[in-house]
Amino acid sequence: MIISIASGKGGTGKTTVATNLAVSLESDVQILDCDVEEPNSHLFIRPVIEEVKTITTPVPEVDMEKCSLCGKCGEICQFKAIIVIGETVLPFHELCHSCGGCMEVCPEKAISETGRELGIIEKGHRNGLEFVHGKLRVGEAMSPPLIRKVREYSRPDILTIIDAPPGTSCPVIASMKGADFVLLVTEPTPFGLHDLKLAVGAVKILGIPCGLVINRSDMGDDQVKKYAEEEGMPVLMEIPFDRQIAEAYSRGDMVVDVMPEWKERFKTLYHDIRELLSSNN
Ligand code: SF4
Ligand code: SF4
Repeated sequence: MIISIASGKGGTGKTTVATNLAVSLESDVQILDCDVEEPNSHLFIRPVIEEVKTITTPVPEVDMEKCSLCGKCGEICQFKAIIVIGETVLPFHELCHSCGGCMEVCPEKAISETGRELGIIEKGHRNGLEFVHGKLRVGEAMSPPLIRKVREYSRPDILTIIDAPPGTSCPVIASMKGADFVLLVTEPTPFGLHDLKLAVGAVKILGIPCGLVINRSDMGDDQVKKYAEEEGMPVLMEIPFDRQIAEAYSRGDMVVDVMPEWKERFKTLYHDIRELLSSNN
């Protein structure tokens, strides 16, 4: 089973929920931090890293000795990532989406593949919990290809928890697509509700069942709950504002380590998700 943990906006406590849920379940679970632009699950999980891999994506390289300047590569590229200028062909690797179209259409077989570095993937563990995250190279604009590489570490024999990036754009979709359940973490404020609605819209398009965790649940208004009711979305957990939780977060400590009673609550959250999914089937 794959549970993707997302939020319409940053700072809602998404990583707190993802990491504490993963650690509470202890075994037969892995966490994939797909927030590759700013991964921070590792700050709380503090895994022992066993493997570091550099990830590249194929981009074109042109052999001008073979090129006839026919222009077909530039015509097929939807991203203007390869163009013929005068007597030469210029590939723009930063714009390339690695579709391979230019290589396919080149009648002279003048285009070969080279690699553009996307970032790195680190894999490790904390006791029985398997940990994987991606770190996007500084200056790299496209994160979905690296997110897809992180997701390749998903194991079908255990539970996969995905810490998705905040927002509702392509990186979030890449982190939610194919999940069995999306857990949306929000807060009961007008901003929280606004971004939650966008996130719910994205989840609906993907057709994935979802539920809510309301963080700092005692601090705002009841509009998020009303919206959840209207949408028929279950509120699976409420985390009230608690100084101890805030302090644990600021120190990089796990909530379940400083307040062990939360371990059972996160186990119940997982149990409730399973129940929901089995009652949907
Ligand atoms: S691989 Fe695709 S995106 Fe990249 S330059 Fe070629 S056609 Fe354009
Ligand atoms: S398609 Fe091949 S031969 Fe034609 S311009 Fe591009 S690289 Fe040159």
